[in-house]
Amino acid sequence: MAYQAEYIWIDGTEPTPLLRSKTKILADGKEPPVWGFDGSSTNQATGESSDCELQPKFVCPDPIRGRDNILVMCDVHLAQDDKPHPTNTRAPLERVAKKYAKQEMIFGIEQEYTMLRPDGSPLGFPVGGGFPAPQGPYYCGVGTGRVIGREVIEEHTQACIDAGLMIEGTNAEVMPGQWEFQIGAADALTVSDHLYVARWLLHRIAEDYDIVISFAAKPQKGDWNGAGAHTNFSTKAMREDTDMKAIEAACKAIGKQIDKHIKGYGHDIESRLTGAHETAPFNKFSYGVSNRAASIRIPWQVSRAGRGYAEDRRPNANCDPYTVTRLLLETVCGAA
Ligand code: ADP
Ligand code: MN
Ligand code: MN
Ligand code: MN
Repeated sequence: MAYQAEYIWIDGTEPTPLLRSKTKILADGKEPPVWGFDGSSTNQATGESSDCELQPKFVCPDPIRGRDNILVMCDVHLAQDDKPHPTNTRAPLERVAKKYAKQEMIFGIEQEYTMLRPDGSPLGFPVGGGFPAPQGPYYCGVGTGRVIGREVIEEHTQACIDAGLMIEGTNAEVMPGQWEFQIGAADALTVSDHLYVARWLLHRIAEDYDIVISFAAKPQKGDWNGAGAHTNFSTKAMREDTDMKAIEAACKAIGKQIDKHIKGYGHDIESRLTGAHETAPFNKFSYGVSNRAASIRIPWQVSRAGRGYAEDRRPNANCDPYTVTRLLLETVCGAA
């Protein structure tokens, strides 16, 4: 029987690209082919030369449509010559990941997000304005008045599992209406492809509840936590050497490239990395054991064992994981 393939790609919206998708019906047994779309409607081409190409990169079962239907994560190429489109950040990551493949770098990304009403107010904030009680009881909370939107995360988590994504866990966050899920640990391309499909599923499932998913870095000004995408990383040496040297070398190398990383870690990062709300200031670099006010945290178990991984706490919820993992590969593996 014919089946449906949902082709997903990243558009050219600035400053933060959006996910787009459309459906192709395929005959029984036919693999998803290269496809195309109108780039003039996604800020990726002009009207006179509007065709862009979709190249399938990662395919998984479609947990929403079920049956034999699939999701197809694509990257965008120019129709004229097949070259990667300027908005295509996956192609440069592919090159860099190949270059440093021997160091076996892997990543685990903690994706935070905020649920909003269609009018833009955070779920859990009073309808018509005003504020809920201050932060405190919401993180990993249970019970009405402490958590909201759980039906969405329950459905999303099961959907990710059914799609075969490397989802690791979920938790309610510090601000009401804010949640997190983690993807990993895997190589840069896998973790990023899976994260994009997981984001698409989250938007899609939230449609059915009339809830808006925001990846904004600081959706609520004031004394409310922003939303990040802590990126945990390790090379083979960081995981295997027991004297902390590889981990410290990685942190030091990253500390020499503050601007390069901050520029690639998502729009409006200055509003989120203020030094308050479990962040370090965006323009000052620090690393430390167990320190959630540092740019990079080394978990205490890692420090005790002398080996393991480190957590770059700076990437925004709205970051592009292809770019974040590429920068960490270049900096960490390039210095090793
Ligand atoms: P926390 O909220 O305490 O910062 P989480 O439990 O949310 O931590 O996330 C921990 C992350 O660390 C997960 O994404 C996991 O994949 C990642 N991780 C664990 N071990 C490694 C490793 N050796 N290399 C890279 N990432 C790792
Ligand atoms: Mn976490
Ligand atoms: Mn978190
Ligand atoms: Mn974290």
